Amino acid sequence: MKSMHECLRLAGSDTDLHAAWQKVVQGHGLTIIESAPVLNASQVPLGRICCLNKAELPFDKPSAHMLQELASLVANLLQHKQEQLQIQQAQALAQQSQASMLRMALAIEGSATGIWDRDIQSGQIHYSPGWKAILGYADEEISNSIEDSFTRLHPEDLPYVQATIKAHFEGQTEQYVVEHRVRCKDGSYKWISSRGKVVSRAEDGSPLRMIGTTTDITAMRTLSQRLQESADLVTCLTNEVPGLAYQYCLHANGEEGFTYLSEGIRDIYELSPAQIQEAVDLVHARIHHDDFPAYRNAVLKSASRLEHLHLEYRVNLPQQGIRWRQKDARPRRLPDGSTLWHGFITDVTEHKRIEQELQELATIDFLTQIPNRRSFMGRIEEELARIQRGASKAAAVLMCDLDNFKLINDTYGHAVGDLVLRHFAHILHDELRKSDYAGRVGGEEFAVVLAGTSITDATIFAQRVQKQLLDTPVNAHTHIIPVTVSIGIAVMQASDLNADVSLSSSDMALYRAKEGGRNRIVVATE
Ligand code: GH3
Ligand code: MG
Ligand code: MG
Repeated sequence: MKSMHECLRLAGSDTDLHAAWQKVVQGHGLTIIESAPVLNASQVPLGRICCLNKAELPFDKPSAHMLQELASLVANLLQHKQEQLQIQQAQALAQQSQASMLRMALAIEGSATGIWDRDIQSGQIHYSPGWKAILGYADEEISNSIEDSFTRLHPEDLPYVQATIKAHFEGQTEQYVVEHRVRCKDGSYKWISSRGKVVSRAEDGSPLRMIGTTTDITAMRTLSQRLQESADLVTCLTNEVPGLAYQYCLHANGEEGFTYLSEGIRDIYELSPAQIQEAVDLVHARIHHDDFPAYRNAVLKSASRLEHLHLEYRVNLPQQGIRWRQKDARPRRLPDGSTLWHGFITDVTEHKRIEQELQELATIDFLTQIPNRRSFMGRIEEELARIQRGASKAAAVLMCDLDNFKLINDTYGHAVGDLVLRHFAHILHDELRKSDYAGRVGGEEFAVVLAGTSITDATIFAQRVQKQLLDTPVNAHTHIIPVTVSIGIAVMQASDLNADVSLSSSDMALYRAKEGGRNRIVVATE
């Protein structure tokens, strides 16, 4: 059987309800003899009290009246029940909000935060005890006047704070948020963060009430100031010291990049720190093509062995051209498997130039500008080692000695003698191939190594030198000075104990050339 409640929902009005209910009871062989509506205080039907029977029965007036009384009693009862329910719900709600208010108050007090409530029209402001405690005041020690509150603000912050309040009052901002200094009871200043909001406005939009919180941020401010100072110090150090300070990360998945670059990148690579994202490729493109493989190997080796990275390499820059760079960096393995370097790159072009000059001073003969004896000996030993490892074929070694040089000195003076020495060195140098090597090994003695050259070809070389000398006599102070040279040739081969073996053989051959009358070529006999 459908419930009365359901019939009420389906029927919509009391008349409809009566008809619908009648149908329902008829379905059960019953009939409504009499009924009365149950109406609430607003005359809205809540239901209907019905008297049912199997057959129609006459219903007298007093009974009908009683039924109506019963209906109104039921209505009263229902009304009472509903009111009780509403009271219970309101009580539960009040308890909940009281608990949450208490929780909020405790949370606010515990977070060094105070609350203020400002009546804008009267200029009064109420501070919570927590607010007063931030400034070191007891509850009754501070006035409620907003004007007084402005006197506690740091003079430098006052215009900014007042401008921010004005903007919020005028509705330009959603919230009032400021950080400023405020004077405490003991005269010292604290940094506070104040946040608030106008919670009610007059009809014309003018603000009436504003509520907010104040938090002591002095400690945070000091800490962030210190952090800023140390960050500034690092930036100054890395930017002011000439060179590039950097942090570089090579990830386990092979990706890599700079995570920090100092201003020095402008000079070291002619890039800007803003290009940090693409810096890897740009930097790689700046490294001299010939030096890049060694550069890359050194970086990867440092990563795999966690070894200090130290290398010198050339860069090719749009403005500065080819320059030398020195890189020093320490790698560290991170928990995720990536490698992080902290490093420094400096310009060592000048060092390299000096180093090269010193190297030349130590290896080049000053007068003739060709390698000196010491350098020549190093090179000839290297060539012998190459022959012995099979990397090069046997070489020809030539010993050249200017004929009657003492006489030139004696006749034309030492300076002219020097000129002759330079002239001969020049001729020798011009005749050499890239793989050959010559050196001044004595006063007017020059030795030559012709790599992978047979005796026959070495003899042709010697003849060319002699001819060149003959064809270009030295011209000194209108004197044409003919100069001749004697040359001894020997073979340098893998079985030689050291370079002296072929050098002495060629020297012996030279001796024979001198004995034979000078200006001639003699090949050493085995
Ligand atoms: P020979 O044909 O037998 O080689 O006779 P030479 O005169 O060339 O040989 P000698 O060894 O008698 O003389 C070499 C001279 O070279 C002696 C030395 O003063 C001179 N000499 C050595 N070094 C220099 C130099 O740097 N400049 C000049 N001008 N002379 C030098
Ligand atoms: Mg000599
Ligand atoms: Mg000589």
